[in-house]
Amino acid sequence: MGAGAEDTAALEAQLFAYLENIPDPEIPVLNIVEMGIVRGVVVSPQSVLVTITPTYMGCPAMDFIAEDVVRVVSGAPDFNGRTVEVKLVYSPAWTTDWLSQDARNRLEEYGISPPDRSVRGPKRCPHCHAPDTKLVSEFGSTACKAHYRCLSCDEPFEHFKCL
Ligand SMILES: [Zn+2]
Repeated sequence: MGAGAEDTAALEAQLFAYLENIPDPEIPVLNIVEMGIVRGVVVSPQSVLVTITPTYMGCPAMDFIAEDVVRVVSGAPDFNGRTVEVKLVYSPAWTTDWLSQDARNRLEEYGISPPDRSVRGPKRCPHCHAPDTKLVSEFGSTACKAHYRCLSCDEPFEHFKCL
């Protein structure tokens, strides 16, 4: 393996880092890499292939994400005029298990109750951290979130359902 192979790996790592600048359209506090949407970046001499997985089937934001990926990748230094292809992969299906603990913490700081398999519904209110909450609507601003209200501070909040 010569220097060429190493350069490709370095560029792949660099492009991955650039993709961390793209916020998730529905949860702007998290980027598409920590959301687990970006599955892979493969650099070849003439092209770059980025594979992404939708957070749920038919997520309307994926077109915007794909456009952002092309824009960010083709604007990176050392890109050298390669073509960019974005490929959607549906298998394995995206799951909330791919969210890191750090990502979950920041979701809660943002006011969204993070997914948690150890409980049914939200573990606690993201505002005051009280455990007693009430379901308002099974569907919040998007299909993957439900609307809840805190019985302690009375604040409404969204809960990211386990997928
Ligand atoms: Zn509360």
